[in-house]
Amino acid sequence: MTLSLEPQGGPGPDLTIDLDSLDKEQWGPSCVTFLDLEDHTMDVISVDSNELSCPSPRLDRDLIAHEVRVKQRRIEDICICCGSFQVSTEHPLFEGGMCASCKNKFLESLFLYDNDGYQSYCSICCSGETLLICENPDCTRCYCFECVDTLVSPGTSEKVQAMSNWVCFLCLPFPSNGLLHRRKKWRDRLKAFYDQEMESPFEMYKTVPAWKREPVRVLSLFGDIQKELVSLGFLEGGSDHGHLKYLDDVTNVVRRDVEEWGPFNLVYGSTPPLGHAVERPPGWYLFQFHRVLQYAQSQAPRGQPFFWMFVDNLVLTADDRKVAARFLEMEPVTIQEVCGQVTQNAVYVWSNIPAVKSKHAALTAEKELSLLVQDKPRARPPAPAPAALVKSCFLPLREYFKYSSTALPSPP
Ligand SMILES: [Zn+2]
Ligand SMILES: [Zn+2]
Ligand SMILES: [Zn+2]
Repeated sequence: MTLSLEPQGGPGPDLTIDLDSLDKEQWGPSCVTFLDLEDHTMDVISVDSNELSCPSPRLDRDLIAHEVRVKQRRIEDICICCGSFQVSTEHPLFEGGMCASCKNKFLESLFLYDNDGYQSYCSICCSGETLLICENPDCTRCYCFECVDTLVSPGTSEKVQAMSNWVCFLCLPFPSNGLLHRRKKWRDRLKAFYDQEMESPFEMYKTVPAWKREPVRVLSLFGDIQKELVSLGFLEGGSDHGHLKYLDDVTNVVRRDVEEWGPFNLVYGSTPPLGHAVERPPGWYLFQFHRVLQYAQSQAPRGQPFFWMFVDNLVLTADDRKVAARFLEMEPVTIQEVCGQVTQNAVYVWSNIPAVKSKHAALTAEKELSLLVQDKPRARPPAPAPAALVKSCFLPLREYFKYSSTALPSPP
């Protein structure tokens, strides 16, 4: 039995209530208010006071069962994530509604992974501190105690903890557990949900069930990501595992070459790390990456997952970055390695891999500036390959390609 007991929101007061201490049978007005705090450090606050002003007309989640079973309210008219009646859309994975703020949280967080290879947040509410982990080796999903106790039945989380080899609500053969009903064709629903709600120029690829996942085929330009992909379980010896083609120079590569080597599912490219002797201007790497990406993309079967990532180890000029944003149709995000208070290394990343943006977009212009100021001392010892910094960004590919789950956790 694997169970994550680490608080997900970092150090902070553990204010999670023991749900069993509440009287489950008493569905009347409750003394418990669930506050939806942005930083997820506190999910539950117990206050026995009328003075507390509720942030929105939102229901104690324990009352969801009462509303559905006794008051005959449709579960599609309740946000199953927080209990609000102000429903803005349907939950893509389970029957039930979703309010606007829970929808945004879900869009931002569903594809976020921790370094242990499991998703960072609950697959139902996309928050939660203490998470139950699905033990199906092909699944990376987690569920919070609160969702499980509220929507399946009180006390379920405790039973799940006591079980060995618990398999989650999306992996179980039967679709219904208490009020929790898995939607039919939830992978289609999830894709439609992201395509409709996410402000992105790229469509989301439908996630692939484990029995249909193929080994990933990777084209890696200028920087090699073999080590990172091996440590994540995507590549390994043997024909059952992925395939990686690494090219240091693509000057003479033509479309026919790429077609011969492909098709590829992932094209990676990077500018050389600072401190490495290079003969080319930094912009050359961008143009060559874009050229080869076009070849690979046009060969990829339509609708099949096709991902790409371009990483700049802060060698592109501001003008180059503008060109990159135009060519790659998105603004970059900054990923940094912080040691204590000091940023040791940073890269700009353009990618269509899910969650790369939501995980790293929060950097302010001010902070970016401070990174660039620190650029000079960073240049002296050759910086590590940028691939090491972006490794965790590849974890969402576990929803699409075959991987070996024994590969994690791995040494850095
Ligand atoms: Zn909600
Ligand atoms: Zn939850
Ligand atoms: Zn599962």
